[in-house]
Amino acid sequence: MRYSGFKVFWEGLRGNTGWKPVWRDPAPKSEYDIIIIGGGGHGLATAYYLASVFGQARIAVLERGWLGGGNVGRNTTIIRSNYLLPGNQPFYSFSMKLWEGMEQDFNYNAMVSQRGVLNLCHTDGQRDAFRRRGNAIHLSGDDAELLDSAQVRAMCPFLNFDDARFPIKGGLLQRSGGTARHDAVAWGYARGADMRGVDLIQNCEVTGMRIENGRILGVETKRGYIGAKKVGVAVAGSSGLLMAMAGMRLPIESHVLQAFVSEGLKETLPGVITFGAGHFYVSQSDKGGLVFGGDIDGYNSYAQRGNLPVIEDVAEGGMALMPMIGRARLLRAWGGIMDMSMDGSPIIDRTPVEGLYLNAGWCYGGFKATPASGYSFAHLIARDAPHPTARAYRLDRFRRGYAIDEKGQGAQPNLH
Ligand SMILES: Cc1cc2nc3c(=O)[nH]c(=O)nc-3n(C[C@H](O)[C@H](O)[C@H](O)COP(=O)(O)OP(=O)(O)OC[C@H]3O[C@@H](n4cnc5c(N)ncnc54)[C@H](O)[C@@H]3O)c2cc1C
Repeated sequence: MRYSGFKVFWEGLRGNTGWKPVWRDPAPKSEYDIIIIGGGGHGLATAYYLASVFGQARIAVLERGWLGGGNVGRNTTIIRSNYLLPGNQPFYSFSMKLWEGMEQDFNYNAMVSQRGVLNLCHTDGQRDAFRRRGNAIHLSGDDAELLDSAQVRAMCPFLNFDDARFPIKGGLLQRSGGTARHDAVAWGYARGADMRGVDLIQNCEVTGMRIENGRILGVETKRGYIGAKKVGVAVAGSSGLLMAMAGMRLPIESHVLQAFVSEGLKETLPGVITFGAGHFYVSQSDKGGLVFGGDIDGYNSYAQRGNLPVIEDVAEGGMALMPMIGRARLLRAWGGIMDMSMDGSPIIDRTPVEGLYLNAGWCYGGFKATPASGYSFAHLIARDAPHPTARAYRLDRFRRGYAIDEKGQGAQPNLH
């Protein structure tokens, strides 16, 4: 069923009786050509591009819980491509281009809204770094503008300019960045994949891998053994657990990242704003809630909920930046399990096990990467060669000394 304005109008006249479930609920088959483990944004996007772009068939996505129940439905919805390093910038630039055509491509409203992302700077050194970053962004053909303090004030008069502990000296604005409705991204990719024959199998936790003579043969699941010629792992915060089933230890730690939403307010924020003197980022949802977040909780965890010290830290960041946030009531807070790599950049690579591929290490940036990650992972699985924009995301870069440390802050998850 194709969705359109006319279809909505027509169904309105018929009492909305003609809508069909957005995807099927198939029983697992005994064997597939390709199995993707993880029905989050990256797993679903991979299955979608495998079927739609790379001409693959007999594909299944195995999801432990329900589609979109992981980080893809828990994040703060920010999309942008304002990266500095050559290993990252072309990849995120490619992702932005896919975001721009995505809704037409999979015929689903993911509410992609290019309302702008403004990174604030608070020192002269930080402004210099932003100038360098802006130039790197221009080299990829993407947009970036350096604003001075007066321009930021005109755009965001509610920020603390008068007695701020960290005075705002300006900001780097990427107008093409913005937000997208996170769970609709999962549903859109799921629907698009299902329409192309991919089996999306929920409540199907993978519990083991069958590997013989260095080759993957299939996976053990709570719904029985399923054979596969190729298996792609895209389980975000559970990457370490899954790859341990293949005898591998990853350069990844799992941490909780929390997010927060306030009660609905009148339209206030022009786009996404990030604080440059602490870790705090905020946008406003279409319903009016302020959606914001900060640092990961500082200890390793597989729990999808966090603790009070980070809530306090995020609240302090918010108050330092825009004191009026102290008048808004907090509606909800939640957490997701983040796959934090040692340099803050992801991994899209083959593994030492033939036929087993890994997509992991997304840290804070995995939502904006969803389209390019799915596309590149599908490219890797279908052609056994990395996509040109994802060549740097090798698993062995940590051993070889080729870390992609975007912030230049060192090799620990709490630093980036
Ligand atoms: C609070 C928060 C805020 C964030 N904000 C942003 C942001 O603003 N911008 C941004 O770019 N990124 C953001 N991120 C990061 C981003 O959401 C993640 O990096 C990205 O969603 C991870 O990829 P995914 O969507 O595939 O993960 P997930 O949605 O977590 O998908 C992984 C799936 O694997 C499944 N799984 C796990 N184990 C198994 C198993 N054994 N068998 C079968 N299935 C299994 C899980 O159930 C899950 O559904 C945020 C993350 C959080 C938690």
